[in-house]
Amino acid sequence: FAELEKIAHTDKLTALASRHYFFINLEQEIQRHKRYDSILSLIIIDLNNFKQINDRYGHLIGDEALKLASQIIKDNIRTTDLAGRLGGDEFVIMLPETGIEQAEEIGERLRESFEQAVLIIGEGNQKVDISASLGASNINLLEKDQSIEEVRNQLIAKADKAMYKAKKMAVANGGSCIMISED
Ligand code: C2E
Ligand code: C2E
Repeated sequence: FAELEKIAHTDKLTALASRHYFFINLEQEIQRHKRYDSILSLIIIDLNNFKQINDRYGHLIGDEALKLASQIIKDNIRTTDLAGRLGGDEFVIMLPETGIEQAEEIGERLRESFEQAVLIIGEGNQKVDISASLGASNINLLEKDQSIEEVRNQLIAKADKAMYKAKKMAVANGGSCIMISED
């Protein structure tokens, strides 16, 4: 039974939390916020040029890029934080007891780690640079009378929106970027 539970809770490829398990934990943390007024931030991470990596090198290398991304995430967050795979090349991190300024620092640390990482292909004679776009949101900016589900969806939507802005900046200026949700 414990084995089955583990399968349902983890994303098979990356061993991060599954989308389902991540949402259960996020909803729990929102409940805690409602009762105890605890703070909470969220970071969404999307790989840059993931489609090109998949198209050019094939799906197995695409999978390696996703595994590398999840390793970078795991190495840079606390065991009390929770990282999950939302789907495709989109990742999410829940940061309990963490304000938006700190979330920005953590996001910046992650952005730099992605910039420095290279994906090594085959015998090691081919190296592919990877990078990511990041967006962060915070629970304090949300209305108190919303349902758990509404708060959950808004936290995700706001971080997503910020991440898309970061992606636009990266496309326009090169490099990579983190953006903070302003609403
Ligand atoms: P810092 O790296 O500048 O981080 C500032 C604050 O951001 C931390 O304050 C914490 O509130 C938040 N923060 C940073 N990284 C994370 C993270 O991965 N997850 C979460 N949830 N929050 C994070 P805090 O805890 O008072 O730490 C103060 C300083 O102590 C940090 O400044 C850092 O220099 C050092 N530090 C604390 N824990 C660690 C650690 O596990 N590893 C390393 N290398 N340094 C640490
Ligand atoms: P952990 O709390 O699970 O954090 C895992 C990793 O996330 C850290 O590995 C570090 O890479 C990153 N990290 C977490 N919080 C911070 C932070 O505030 N600032 C920065 N710059 N990075 C952070 P690291 O540094 O190898 O630490 C391994 C473990 O050692 C940590 O696991 C924690 O259990 C402990 N540790 C390290 N430094 C501190 C500290 O200053 N205070 C406390 N309470 N524990 C620490």
